Amino acid sequence: MRAWENYIRKVVPYVPGEQPKIADVIKLNTNENPYPPSPKAVEASEHFDYDRLRLYPDPEASLLVEAIADRYALDKNQVFVGVGSDDVIAMAFMTFFNSELPILFPDVSYSFYSVWADLFRIPYKKVELDEEFNIVPESFNVPNGGIIFPNPNAPTSVYLGLDKVEEIIKNNQDSVVMVDEAYIDFGGKSAYELINKYDNLLVIQTYSKSRSMAGMRIGFAMGNAKLIKALNDVKFSYNSYTMNETSLVYGSEAMKDEEYFKECVDKIIATREQAKEKLTALGFTYPDSKANFIFAKHERVQASVIFEELKKRNIFVRYFKQPRIDNYLRITVGTDAQMDKLFEALEEIISNN
Ligand code: PMP
Repeated sequence: MRAWENYIRKVVPYVPGEQPKIADVIKLNTNENPYPPSPKAVEASEHFDYDRLRLYPDPEASLLVEAIADRYALDKNQVFVGVGSDDVIAMAFMTFFNSELPILFPDVSYSFYSVWADLFRIPYKKVELDEEFNIVPESFNVPNGGIIFPNPNAPTSVYLGLDKVEEIIKNNQDSVVMVDEAYIDFGGKSAYELINKYDNLLVIQTYSKSRSMAGMRIGFAMGNAKLIKALNDVKFSYNSYTMNETSLVYGSEAMKDEEYFKECVDKIIATREQAKEKLTALGFTYPDSKANFIFAKHERVQASVIFEELKKRNIFVRYFKQPRIDNYLRITVGTDAQMDKLFEALEEIISNN
């Protein structure tokens, strides 16, 4: 073994959901949106001036930042953008989680949090969800170097009311509290309206779910100007040009299309509510979802068996072999037609097992 091998940063990477390379799959495993991006973004792509690719993009990403600030009635110095919310959260971990105290996040949550903590050598402690997978605000009332939780939580889909989110922020004003709102548009109330009240709150959202643009990689954070400046200082110390020209143009146009955004979100919510009824009829139970996925367990058939059987039929859902959740499947809400195929397959699998 060479000496340099001792100095390699050793990490156990996050494992993203499978992106199958075969045709004709029903892909309900990574919480993507089944509907296309806004026609305004598509139109912008048709008129895109390719000569602009010769030049570096605007390092301040002003076009996109301003479109987001307008949508949320914020000042542009209250918005930070990154390459998907994964990039925004990683940057925020680097910027804000530098205390000696452990940061806190739920024991069942987005599994990337512990990976970033390990990567950046941030100590962390997991706080327990209750039996029904609810976040317990009081569990965060311990000395900590920062807090992050998704709302709705992933992969559980459980939403925490804004009053309880505020309780966590209010009781931890010496720490930065990050609310990861990747799924908030599917029925929750965003904490962004609290950012002028609490200077320790950072709200993080993404274009990947409710805005049908996972492939474009756009995420953003909203917080008071001091937090956003700190994030930008770290970004400009690391990589000034995170946002490419196409993200700026398509992303700003998509953000202006409120009508289309609402239409897609409403369709997904309607399909989700129907799916809940069908799952119940088949003997599944699930926490009440306010996300674009359902976290379901069958009364008799093991999740691992259903997962494999669905895969044989080219239907991909997500299965996590982890404590507390290894008998659950996380099923992304697709189109009505995709869900019909899923239920056809589930009926067959359940009656054969
Ligand atoms: N937060 C949560 C809770 C997620 O489930 C995801 C999607 N894997 C992300 C953040 C990151 O999404 P993106 O980088 O596509 O914005």
